[in-house]
Amino acid sequence: MGQQVFLPKFHIEECLEAVRECLEKGWTGLGYKTVEFEEAWKKYTGHTNAHFLNSNTAGLYLAVEILKEKYGWADGDEIISTPITFVSTNHAILHQNMKVKFADVDEFLCLDPADVEKKITEKTRAVMFVGYGGRFGRLDEIIAICEKYNLKLILDAAHMSGTRVNGVFPGTLNGIDVTVYSFQAVKNLPTADSGMICFADSELDSICRKYSWLGINKDTYERTSSTGNYKWRYDVDYLGYKYHGNSIMAALALTQLKYLDSDNARRREMVKIYDECLASNNKIHIIPATYEDECSFHIYEIAVDNRDALMNFLAENEVFTGVHYRDNTEYGMYSYGQGTCPRAHEISKHIVTLPLHLGLSDDEVRGIAKLVNDFVG
Ligand SMILES: *Cc1c(COP(=O)(O)O)cnc(C)c1O
Repeated sequence: MGQQVFLPKFHIEECLEAVRECLEKGWTGLGYKTVEFEEAWKKYTGHTNAHFLNSNTAGLYLAVEILKEKYGWADGDEIISTPITFVSTNHAILHQNMKVKFADVDEFLCLDPADVEKKITEKTRAVMFVGYGGRFGRLDEIIAICEKYNLKLILDAAHMSGTRVNGVFPGTLNGIDVTVYSFQAVKNLPTADSGMICFADSELDSICRKYSWLGINKDTYERTSSTGNYKWRYDVDYLGYKYHGNSIMAALALTQLKYLDSDNARRREMVKIYDECLASNNKIHIIPATYEDECSFHIYEIAVDNRDALMNFLAENEVFTGVHYRDNTEYGMYSYGQGTCPRAHEISKHIVTLPLHLGLSDDEVRGIAKLVNDFVG
C-alpha cells in the first residue's frame, strides 16, 4: 500500500467506549464531555481558560471578533500575519473587515520578527502568529515586539498540540492574548473536527462562551431558577454563532489526549530518521525547528529545486506528499500582498511535506528518504 502524507491513528476501542458513554447517557451535545475535555486540556497545558469549539477556524474567527470589540478596533485596522499558512488564519482577519498585513517568514517558516517590526503602522492592532509545524520559531521576540508597540497577540496553534518550550506550553506565555488549537481529522490530536480557544483574560473567555452559542446568556436563567423551570428565559447578549463543540468530539479528544505525548515522541523519532538520511544531501534543505526535542512536528518539510517533479516521482512510487503552504498572496483576495514577502514567496515554490504519521515504521521512513535521495541525488 502507498504512503499517505497524513494518517490519523485512533485508539478505536477506547474511543468507541467513550462515545458509547455519551449515547447511553443520551447526551451528545454541549456540556458533559465538552466540560470534561476543557478541564483535561487546562490541566494538560496550564492554560487558565479553555473553551471547546467545533473547529480551530471558528476559534480564530471568534478571537479576532472578540478582541476587535473589546479594544474598539475599526474596520480597516491591520493585523500582521503570515502568507505561509492555511487560509483560515487570514480569513479570520478579513471576516472582521480588517486588513491582513503580510510579514515575511524566517528560516523556521514562522513570522520573522525583524519584518514584523517593519510592517507596523499606526493602524496595526495585533499580530497573528502561526506555530508552523508545531515550531516555536522566534515567538519570544514577537511577544517582546507586541509589548513594545502595545499590540495584541493571537497564536494559531493548529499544529502545536503538545509542543513545549523548556517544559512550558507556548500558548500560556505572558503576552499571548489568545491561543487556538485544532483537533481536525489529521492534526496531532485528531477527532473529526473540533478545536479549543484559550483566552488569557477570563472575561473574554466568558464572552466567547456566549458567542459560540448564538450569544445566549445562560447565567440569567441559572440565577432565577433553581428548579430549571425557567430554562427558556435566557437573555441573548450578542449576535452569536453556532460554533461550540459537542460531546462526541470531546469523547474522542479525551481518549486521544492520553496518547498525545507518546504520539509526538514517535513523530520526533521519525523526524530524526529523516534528518539522518537527508541532511548530508546538499540539494535538500530541511526546514529546521527551535526546541526540536519538544516540538509536536505536525509536518516534516524539506525544500528542493524541482519540487513538482519530486512530488510526481514520489507519487509514481505511491508516496503521497503535500505542500504546506502555497504563499497566500497567490490567492486573489490576498494578491495585494504580492511582492511584500519575498522569502515566503520563494520558499513556497520549493517546499514539500513528506509523510509523517503514526502508521509508518522506521524502515518505511528510510524507504521514503531513499526515494527522495535517489531522485534529488
Ligand atoms: C488546520 C489548520 C487550521 C484550521 O483548523 P480547523 O480545525 O480545520 O478549522 C488553521 N490554521 C492552520 C495553520 C491549520 O493547519
